[in-house]
Amino acid sequence: MTTDWTRRTAAEIADALAAGEVTSAEVTQAHLDRIAAVDGPVHAFLHVDAEGALAQAAESDARRAAGAPLHALDGVPIAVKDVLATDGLPTTCGSKILEGWVPPYDATVVAKLRAAGLPILGKTNMDEFAMGSSTEHSAYGATHNPWDLDRIPGGSGGGSAAAVAAFEAPLALGTDTGGSIRQPGAVTGTVGVKPTYGGVSRYGLVALANSLDQVGPVTRTVLDSALLHELIGGHDPRDSTSIDQPLPPLVEAARQGATGDLSGVKVGIITELSGDGWQAGVMTRFQESVDLLVKAGAEVVEVSCPTFVHALATYYLILPAEASSNLAKFDAMRYGLRVWPAEGASAEEVMRATRDAGFGDEVKRRIILGTYALSSGYYDAYYGTAQKVRTLISRDFEAAFEQVDVLVSPTAPTTAFKLGEKLDDPIAMYLNDLATIPANLAGVPGISVPAGLAAEDGLPVGFQILAPALADDRCYRVGAALEALLLEQWGGPLVPPEENLS
Ligand code: GLN
Repeated sequence: MTTDWTRRTAAEIADALAAGEVTSAEVTQAHLDRIAAVDGPVHAFLHVDAEGALAQAAESDARRAAGAPLHALDGVPIAVKDVLATDGLPTTCGSKILEGWVPPYDATVVAKLRAAGLPILGKTNMDEFAMGSSTEHSAYGATHNPWDLDRIPGGSGGGSAAAVAAFEAPLALGTDTGGSIRQPGAVTGTVGVKPTYGGVSRYGLVALANSLDQVGPVTRTVLDSALLHELIGGHDPRDSTSIDQPLPPLVEAARQGATGDLSGVKVGIITELSGDGWQAGVMTRFQESVDLLVKAGAEVVEVSCPTFVHALATYYLILPAEASSNLAKFDAMRYGLRVWPAEGASAEEVMRATRDAGFGDEVKRRIILGTYALSSGYYDAYYGTAQKVRTLISRDFEAAFEQVDVLVSPTAPTTAFKLGEKLDDPIAMYLNDLATIPANLAGVPGISVPAGLAAEDGLPVGFQILAPALADDRCYRVGAALEALLLEQWGGPLVPPEENLS
């Protein structure tokens, strides 16, 4: 096995730490060196905390030497999306309006990382307030896809996905409101999981749309996601939407799946999530993966979810409505930026000038949309109708899951597009989330697993697996089986060519 620790999976690093083959200090330093070497061109990180990470690594090593590691992942470094509050570390949400803001507390998921002893390497780049599918809406410059630096790494969590794909971190946290973990996973060839809504605490996650947001793992293997998911998941009294019941056994499900046996599992291909407009190479890889599931013993049928065609429109009413109200708190009085338009300006003038200077175009666009959808006279027609369609989408899922155990589709309609290609066309940008949004609207879990490279451009394709709420274990079982069969076929993981990174 390679001695380049950045090339190992989190599970392998954990084993090596346990066996005394390496120290957390060495592993953490290797990742910091990798960040120093490649993050110039990739720009996955907004903030690197070398000193903090090495101090946490030293503590981890001391604990282990004393025979008392805190968790299986104690000492394995991780990167955190910059939308999660980190005590003592800047948290900008990719926005100028929060430049320089250092939260006085940790998000629950971050507190869990620290309590388990994972050194935090830094904060990863993202579309401003998690609005976007390309990370180009970051106020601090775009992240570049390690597979091709001229292309987008997906969004909004392109930083976390690129960091993991480029071996800058073995693990990362992302957030998925409409696809921001799964779609970046698809286009960077990494694994991304959106847990069941309420399965992972949102406390300390700067809200984009509270009823849709969910924190989840970004990794290179299905098993690593299961390990991280079990660590961050579970009930949190600080989040009123957190589910008060234990998670299903995710690591066990991943290990079971890795045997490659899916007999007894019924898989439904979602009719509405393919067809016209889907890249041919994406569909080819998708179909090949479906064939592998059949080979593993799964029964595959086609299932129609007719209301899914309205998911995008529904999402783009509900999300802006919630976002416009969430972002009202950035008023120059409480956090971050404050712009004085003139001496003696009124509070209203300061707020206006600050929000004008501090928010980017996409954020403003959604605040305007959301405010309009919620305004009296329009509320019933827009927001109210969207909520009704949301219920219909949930019912389509319920009906589908009466027929099958999991639903599958390609994660995104295309591979990574060129930077700048869709920046001036919001609708084209929104269309990337066609296949990921229904899960957020219904609160069900989903995983994106790398399914190979599209023939026409050599870029990664993602395979999405969706399960009923609270049955996240099914995503891991089927995901791990697919991964095992694909790795056998490829003879090892597909990784971005090193010469692309300079
Ligand atoms: N790309 C979607 C959007 O722009 C998803 C965002 C997300 O999941 N945070 O809203």
